[in-house]
Order: sequence, then structure tokens, then C-alpha cells
Amino acid sequence: SREVHLVSRPVGEPRPDDFSLVETTVGDPGPGEVLVRNDWMSVDPYMRGRMNDVKSYVPPYQLGEPMDGGAVGVVTASGSDDVPVGTAVLHSAGWREYALLPAKAVRAVDTSLAPAEDYLGVLGMVGLTAYAGLTEVAPVREGDVVFVSGAAGAVGSIAGQIARQLGASRVVGSAGGPEKKRRLLEEFGFDAAIDYREGRLEEQLAEAAPEGVDVYFDNVGGDHLRAAIAAMRNHGRTALCGAVSQYNATEPAPGPDNLFLAVGKRLNLRGFIVGDHGHLMGEYAERASGWIADGRLRTEKTVVEGVDNAVRAFLDMMRGANTGKMLVRLTS
Ligand code: NDP
Repeated sequence: SREVHLVSRPVGEPRPDDFSLVETTVGDPGPGEVLVRNDWMSVDPYMRGRMNDVKSYVPPYQLGEPMDGGAVGVVTASGSDDVPVGTAVLHSAGWREYALLPAKAVRAVDTSLAPAEDYLGVLGMVGLTAYAGLTEVAPVREGDVVFVSGAAGAVGSIAGQIARQLGASRVVGSAGGPEKKRRLLEEFGFDAAIDYREGRLEEQLAEAAPEGVDVYFDNVGGDHLRAAIAAMRNHGRTALCGAVSQYNATEPAPGPDNLFLAVGKRLNLRGFIVGDHGHLMGEYAERASGWIADGRLRTEKTVVEGVDNAVRAFLDMMRGANTGKMLVRLTS
């Protein structure tokens, strides 16, 4: 079995030689253990933070050890009656072809509802992040104008569509490049779209949302957060979900220089971590399944083949090569 190790801590943008593909032998499962053949693994922006040796809400990757992250696969040998051979499971030992795990560390997924890899995307943490952000963190109310950054990505493309289902009157998205802008409008149902690479972010947002913004779902931080604060209406609400424009930064990034506007506008700027909103999963899964079934929630994935290309997939995702969820298929 092959697995990916972090071998040096990246400074700025990670380089391929910060990682190494290592061949290992995986043993047989003992009592209470299962052996999983990983079919799909996820690459996510938060993994960049784990490559640094800093304390955060998830521990850093250790040098010379396999990295981890979301994966789905099938149990091929089992020492547990609870999780028999053939069970499709979700777990957090990605970045490797086979994972030997305690049965308690895997969760069976229902592949009659959706393909297993959807539990790494729309039916998993990614979808729940969008839903929690727009229901509990910065709730969308009927008639709101909603702005989403990183709008062609995994979380963002779902957030834009959920905002509509929650009653938004206008949904504006920002993404990098003309092709993504087109897809926001034509495939993900945004009313207006911004290509941030064209610059003039604040002007573009003012044109796209002439009456201002009530709810901002922030995946990007930096200039996008500044532009959103400028565009917010009184009592506007922002879900601070991520700041992907800053994850490779080597210096602390300055905060938005117009933050004082939050006072006069009585803005609510609220950070959140999806793990604190797990209680919403049942409700979300039920609503999302309905939206998917009747075509109101369109999901997209970008697929890269093979564990030997997993690092490339991560680096490409951080540069915007993906539309929707970036996934690595480990078996063909
Ligand atoms: P995405 O699928 O959105 O992939 C990352 C995207 O970031 C790229 O496709 C790229 O799109 C965009 N990007 C990269 N650099 C920049 C930049 N300088 N400025 C603007 N956009 C940039 O990833 P996810 O959907 O998985 O994650 C989106 C955000 O949500 C991240 O910030 C992540 O950390 C956060 N997150 C937070 C969670 C929480 O619990 N709070 C849980 C899950 C995710 P483009 O081509 O448009 O530039």
C-alpha cells in the first residue's frame, strides 16, 4: 500500500518535494479492527494549516508520518462483527491506499442514497459547512441579498444554491476566471457573478448587488472581506468560514482596513467551525437529499486519479484548478 508523508514543513506555497510517496505493508486486522481499501480521498484547504507546526483546532501533521484526512472505501478484512467485509465506510485516514483502523473509527455510509464519494462532499462536512453557515451562523432570511466568495468551490457552490432555497432574493458569487464566472451563472444558479481576477472587487460587487448585501459567506478573507464589509447593509451578517487567500501567506495578513464600518452598520461577523454544528447533520442530509433529487442542488466534482497524484491534486485545488469538490480516486 502506498501513502503520502509530509517530509518538510512548507514555507509559502507547498512544493512537491515537501511530500513523499512511501510504500508500506499493512497488517491484518486484529480483534475490533478493520482493513479498508480506500476508494476516494479528499483534499481540503484546511490541510495547508496542518502542514505548519502551530496549534489550531486540528493538530499539525507530523514529519515523516502519513498525512490524514477524509476518505471513503470498502472493508476488505474485518475483526469486528459490527463492520463486516464489504461495508462502505467513511473515516479520516486518507492519503493512503489501505487503512488499518479500529472499527470505532469508521462510519458506514449508505451507498443506496448516493455514491460513497458524495459523503466527502455534498452529503458530508462540505455540504454541512454551507448549511450551518447560512442557517445558524449568518442566517439567511426571506428576501436577503447573499454574497458568497470562493463560489465555484466545494463549499461555495453549495452555499450559493442553499441560499436560494432559504429564501434569498439575490445571490452573488465570486470566483477566479471567466470560465468559473460563466459556470456560476449558468450551472449553479447565481444571479450575478464576479471574476475577482479582473480586480476592482468593490466596484464589481457594487454593480452585482446595487442595493447592498445582507449576508456574506466568506471563504476567502482579505480583499473579499473588505469588499463585503463595504457592501453590507445595516445589521448585515457574515459567516467567517475560511480565508483561503491567506493560507500560504508567510507574514500575518492585515485585517480589513474598513472594519470600523462594522460599528455604524451594526454588523455581525462570526467565525465558525463545522464540527460544532454536527447536530444539524440529520436535518441537513434530509433537506439536501430532497434538493438533489428535484434538481435544486447541483453538485460538481473535479477528480484526479491515483495516490501518486494526490499532492498534485492538493496543490492544484489551492490554485483553483477545481470546480466543486476536489477528490482523488484511489482505485479505478
Ligand atoms: P474549494 O473547493 O473552494 O477550493 C479552494 C478554492 O480557493 C480554489 O478552487 C480557488 O478558487 C480558491 N482560491 C485559492 N486562492 C485564492 C485567492 N487568493 N483568492 C480567492 N480565492 C482563492 O475549497 P473548500 O470548498 O473545501 O473550502 C472553501 C473554504 O471553506 C476554505 O477557506 C476552507 O478553509 C473553508 N472551510 C471551512 C470550514 C469550517 O468549518 N469553517 C469547513 C470546510 C471548509 P478560484 O479559482 O475561485 O480562485
